[in-house]
Amino acid sequence: MSGAKTIVVERNAVVGTPVRCAEGVGEYLLGLAPFRIPKGLLRWRIEGMRFRAENLKFELKGGFWEGYTIDRDRFDQWLARLSEAEGAKVLTGTTIIFAEDKLDGVKAVSLSGDGKETDIRAKKVVVADGADSKASEYLGYDLRRRNVGHVYGMELRETELGESRFETIFFGDFTTIGYGYIFPKGNGIANVGVGGELSEGEAKRKFFEFVEMREVREKISGAKFGVEKGGPCPLEGYPPPVKGNSILVGDAGNQNFKPFIEGVIPAVICGDIAGRVAAESAAGKAGLTDFNARVKEKLGDYFAASEAIYREMAALFRSEYPSRHLLIAGISSNLIKPDEISELEESEPAEIRKTILSRLGRLDQ
Ligand SMILES: Cc1cc2nc3c(=O)[nH]c(=O)nc-3n(C[C@H](O)[C@H](O)[C@H](O)COP(=O)(O)OP(=O)(O)OC[C@H]3O[C@@H](n4cnc5c(N)ncnc54)[C@H](O)[C@@H]3O)c2cc1C
Repeated sequence: MSGAKTIVVERNAVVGTPVRCAEGVGEYLLGLAPFRIPKGLLRWRIEGMRFRAENLKFELKGGFWEGYTIDRDRFDQWLARLSEAEGAKVLTGTTIIFAEDKLDGVKAVSLSGDGKETDIRAKKVVVADGADSKASEYLGYDLRRRNVGHVYGMELRETELGESRFETIFFGDFTTIGYGYIFPKGNGIANVGVGGELSEGEAKRKFFEFVEMREVREKISGAKFGVEKGGPCPLEGYPPPVKGNSILVGDAGNQNFKPFIEGVIPAVICGDIAGRVAAESAAGKAGLTDFNARVKEKLGDYFAASEAIYREMAALFRSEYPSRHLLIAGISSNLIKPDEISELEESEPAEIRKTILSRLGRLDQ
């Protein structure tokens, strides 16, 4: 905002609903957020992550692996209130329509009211309409290379899994370039899902296969299935974020960290940078392309690591190597570096298992 007159437009009637998220946030990112996130929003403490791939099981805790599960709807509503408190006008139940070849013009049509269209002239536009961003098309980006994956998830209720302090990640043939997950939220609630290079329908089908896998079925036995929490997720091939008078932010600009497609806090960080740059640019004090340099300065190392992991992960998923899922678990847990893969990719599963366990300092599983 930084003094600029700001309008936030949200298609949904209630900000943050429906939830399309597994609701995990890493503690390591909270310190990079542009404002302090109130403790009350950090619902359930997470101490670490458990990894499952074929017959390999291990866990990592502390440091990078610590975090929280949040209620994403409450979190997003808090963000909206925060922007209102800073002077922004938040319009819900309103869909943005971008006029083609008219980058300085935005049309908004009210869905909640009488369907009336209103023209809004915006000097700068921060585009944050998600992984399958339609706005990107209207803004004239070539989206043929954009690879959009899907996650299908559900909330489990009345399950002891909800009380765990560990997130569990599963790698295997039940998905492509992705993983299955169980994220506890406390109070008998856990998010379970499958994501990957999948269409919406495939993700849903894979989810029901996943929850029938013996190891998962045993874990979730007795739980009740609650609301769906699926949605699209950005994988690769997204356009560069700055064009004309607009900046693509969050999932629309693929600003998340692989392998877990962790995008909640990165979207907040990049959104904050975009807002500041847009305001400065409107006032003639900066160029919109400053966004790239400022994001690089703050999150460049994370994005570089994310890209390297994604590249190897995608190649392994597409390969026939017998140890591919173990190697994916190895790079996802940071126990194997992406640049080690070419040396290790043809190794037998027993060899990779030994490598991972030895790096954990443990050879007992
Ligand atoms: C099932 C699932 C699980 C995930 N789990 C995690 C997780 O545990 N942790 C994590 O960090 N990340 C997770 N992610 C990723 C994370 O949810 C995203 O990176 C994050 O939501 C990106 O925020 P965003 O604002 O860019 O996009 P979104 O959250 O998708 O928000 C886009 C918003 O734009 C609105 N919109 C779209 N088009 C228009 C329009 N034309 N006019 C007005 N409004 C419009 C939509 O209604 C929506 O509210 C998950 C993603 C999915 C799909």
